[in-house]
Amino acid sequence: MDDIQFEEAARVGQIITIKAKVNRAFKTSMEVGIKVTVQDVLTDVEKIVSVAYATYVAKPVGAGKIELEPVKLLSTEDHLEHTLATERRRIRLGYEQVFQNLMQESNKEGTFEEEDAVSTDLTHVQSIELVQPPHANHHGNTFGGQIMAWMETVASISASRLCRSYPILKSVNMFKFWGPSIVGDRLVFNAIVNNTFQNSVEVGVRVEAYNCEEWIKDQARHINSAFLIFNTVNDKGQLVTFPRIKPTTKDGIRRYHGAIARRRIRLARKCMLSAKEDKPSDPWERSNQAYVSYSNVAALTHLAAKPGWEVTSTLDDVSAELWNSYVAALVMFLHK
Ligand code: ADP
Repeated sequence: MDDIQFEEAARVGQIITIKAKVNRAFKTSMEVGIKVTVQDVLTDVEKIVSVAYATYVAKPVGAGKIELEPVKLLSTEDHLEHTLATERRRIRLGYEQVFQNLMQESNKEGTFEEEDAVSTDLTHVQSIELVQPPHANHHGNTFGGQIMAWMETVASISASRLCRSYPILKSVNMFKFWGPSIVGDRLVFNAIVNNTFQNSVEVGVRVEAYNCEEWIKDQARHINSAFLIFNTVNDKGQLVTFPRIKPTTKDGIRRYHGAIARRRIRLARKCMLSAKEDKPSDPWERSNQAYVSYSNVAALTHLAAKPGWEVTSTLDDVSAELWNSYVAALVMFLHK
């Protein structure tokens, strides 16, 4: 899953519409775009709850390899998403490297001498779930959405220990499902607050699966880990400020810095993708390159989708850097 941002809360009695489509099939993986909107029955007003992108891989039944057929592009929108899917894939694949670079920078800063900082120990929450048939799909594998729902529950309990009110989920950081879990597995969820940022808190959750039947070989399988961002409001609807936190272990300190790095990526991504005027101060910084490329390609494809413009040829084999500066120059020129 790519980052998920929740723009709007859907409430009891409102109508939710979920639309999903394969944007692009690569060799064995495909990107699925999911758009969730909420409609109020009384006012008829429709709002976007979230736009998310999931990657699925096709698993061969036997030994044979699978090569996916390319998707048929029918509308302008299909063409646009098809092009942007490649850019999002580049961001996805480069994420780990960008994260490691930022971690190194973040490690050089920061000490934990703030007097009123709260220890993260009191935010540790553990829960265990048994995977039953209704939790699984026709392969017997647990639904990804079910695991995410369980993760949200433990994470929100962890966050509430710090804010002593009901946390609201704002976003989930990009994450991977490392392996499947099946009916009969026990899933152990461990959550703890990694860091707080003024009005938001990052809670990390790690999920491990244990096989109940072959208990002799009982070994934990790492299913996935996710980082959830919450905020919370007081009874007047104002955002509440979270206390600073103080990690108490070596892992805690590493995660504290990890949360800062993830936040920096999230903010850069948000600015770059929202096509607003208030871009980050240094869009040419290396870690932002993928996003600059994304917004450039998005700008061009939007232009190409307008009447009077048409794509006469496309190139696949151009180096990202060269392409990026070429497109940036072209977009600037077209703006003028
Ligand atoms: P990392 O430690 O690099 O963040 P992990 O996959 O081990 O990656 O864990 C993901 C997150 O889950 C951690 O950042 C932390 O917030 C939470 N977590 C992991 N292990 C525990 C644990 N034993 N107790 C509480 N929380 C945990």
